[in-house]
Amino acid sequence: MYIVLDIGGTSTRIASSKKLKTIDKIDKFSTIRSFDLSIKRITASIENITQEGKTQGIIIGLPGTIDKKTRRLARAPDLFSSWIHKPLTNILSKKFNCKIFIKNDTDLGGLGEVAFGAGKGHKIVGYYAIGTGLGGTRIVNKQIDVFSRGFEPGHQIINIHGEKWPSCGQYGCLESYVSGRAFYKNYGIQAENCKNEKIWNDFSKHLAQGIVNGIVLWSPDIFIIGGGFSQRAHLFLKQTRENVKKNRFNPPPIVKSKLGDKSGLYGGLHFLKTHK
Ligand SMILES: [Zn+2]
Repeated sequence: MYIVLDIGGTSTRIASSKKLKTIDKIDKFSTIRSFDLSIKRITASIENITQEGKTQGIIIGLPGTIDKKTRRLARAPDLFSSWIHKPLTNILSKKFNCKIFIKNDTDLGGLGEVAFGAGKGHKIVGYYAIGTGLGGTRIVNKQIDVFSRGFEPGHQIINIHGEKWPSCGQYGCLESYVSGRAFYKNYGIQAENCKNEKIWNDFSKHLAQGIVNGIVLWSPDIFIIGGGFSQRAHLFLKQTRENVKKNRFNPPPIVKSKLGDKSGLYGGLHFLKTHK
């Protein structure tokens, strides 16, 4: 049995797969503030799922920067600080005695969309996940592209006269215009309650600027918009495409994610399949 753990700021999901072709079961619960209690809950869930057999591999997706040397979470503005620098991989590998991988959750989300969702059949894919913040990744030949410090498209600057953004300390970041946190701050309403066309048009202009930059830097065959905001794509995607076309000759298709909040789980599945 293979296990994919997707630990987000709000919820934790644990998926199991026997043959790495599809997800068999998902256990979902609210992410727990205490790291020790979380470990207990997670191991109990995995034990429950794998009653019938051995755990052959585990992949963990976390919403932040992973320190490649220590294989620990180094930075995660959207997760409880009690999770930072904890030996999650060591604990689980001792407990289950199998291969364990740890990855950024947005990288896995992009990978999932390419292997099973909206990016199927495309060689070079740009992916932005818009939720509380904005993350993104580049997928090449069905693999997370190599990087030195991780992809951080949310922190590209789209306005040099912009305001300071607390989560990174920079001025005029894309994330300070295009994210759940920014939406509430800038428009005074939560995105899930907003149907105001003018607001969504303004939002789409900023997103389009970020996508144009993504296109010129990443040169993708297709651009995918995932994360919680993709559920409201009908309110902004069409205008975003039009705004991209105003700035960019012959852009690639810009589409919404197909797997929604399961893209990271499918990405983990694909990663395990290719790293057996
Ligand atoms: Zn920033």
